[in-house]
Amino acid sequence: MTGAMTGAMTGAMTGAMTGAMTGALIKSGGALCGGIDVGGTKIEAQLFGAGFAPLTQRRLPTSRGDFRDFMTVLAEQVEWILEATGRSAPVGVALPGIVDPQTGASTAANLPIGGRDVAAALRARFGRDFVFLNDCSAFALSEARGGAGEGFETVLGLILGTGVAAGFCQQGAEAPGRLNRLAVEIGHVGISARALAGLNLPLIRCGCGRIGCYETYVAGPGLARLAEAKLGRRVSAEELSAHAEGEAVLDLWAHLAAEALDQARLLLDPQCVALGGGLSRLPGVAERLTAALARRPLGDLRPPALRVAKFGDASGGRGAAIQAWSLST
Ligand SMILES: [Zn+2]
Repeated sequence: MTGAMTGAMTGAMTGAMTGAMTGALIKSGGALCGGIDVGGTKIEAQLFGAGFAPLTQRRLPTSRGDFRDFMTVLAEQVEWILEATGRSAPVGVALPGIVDPQTGASTAANLPIGGRDVAAALRARFGRDFVFLNDCSAFALSEARGGAGEGFETVLGLILGTGVAAGFCQQGAEAPGRLNRLAVEIGHVGISARALAGLNLPLIRCGCGRIGCYETYVAGPGLARLAEAKLGRRVSAEELSAHAEGEAVLDLWAHLAAEALDQARLLLDPQCVALGGGLSRLPGVAERLTAALARRPLGDLRPPALRVAKFGDASGGRGAAIQAWSLST
């Protein structure tokens, strides 16, 4: 969910354990639950111990084939967790996109699961239920429980990666009762006229089919577009820091990202915003966005605390595991 994977990872099992090691974990009671983070390039399975501390993980490449191929890889990861934790241990799965809470049907770009019920397919294969939630909601939950948002009553987990989306937690739990169980889809909200005024930037068609979504300016590819508009050529986020005019591009990005953040703030009023995704690793990103948000005063509103995520790329699987554990106890 958060950026490109390296080629070295493809086909490899990073952090793979032998049967003896998994057996030892079971005997020691070390592995209590598992989480799986489904992304466009890899499906990552993780084991967690006390306090949801990450113990080890295994990554497999996401199948580019059909639904059956996709399910084969997902089931391999579920089996790996069950062997380490016991057959009835809580296991959560973080999925990108939207899962219809009434029909179970998925809507997700870049995955062959459109219209399919992944939870039902896993249930048919293993004879038990698994817990599912949106990957951004999982990220927010992980950061709210022992992460960057620990101690705050409301946490917005904002992912700035290949896409832009967020999850929202209240009192350490996914905000309940939402009609479509949507994540906070701020990336597909239309950018405000006041943010674009005077910038002479083009309106871009988003992958969702709409025009002018925040994601087209603020996600990783959006930052590259801003660099192209300012510098005349595409420059990666890493190169920008070293580029003479990179600072101006990053300030423009922060201006637009803070506008998205401001809209989310006006709607949700979170105490804390945890930043994840590849762009959260930009040097000083929390301070840059805090300063940009401060240029949008409204009365005496106190700003949310902006923090870089503690668990980073592990937060999707960790949040899924927390959700599964919470529902099992
Ligand atoms: Zn969009």
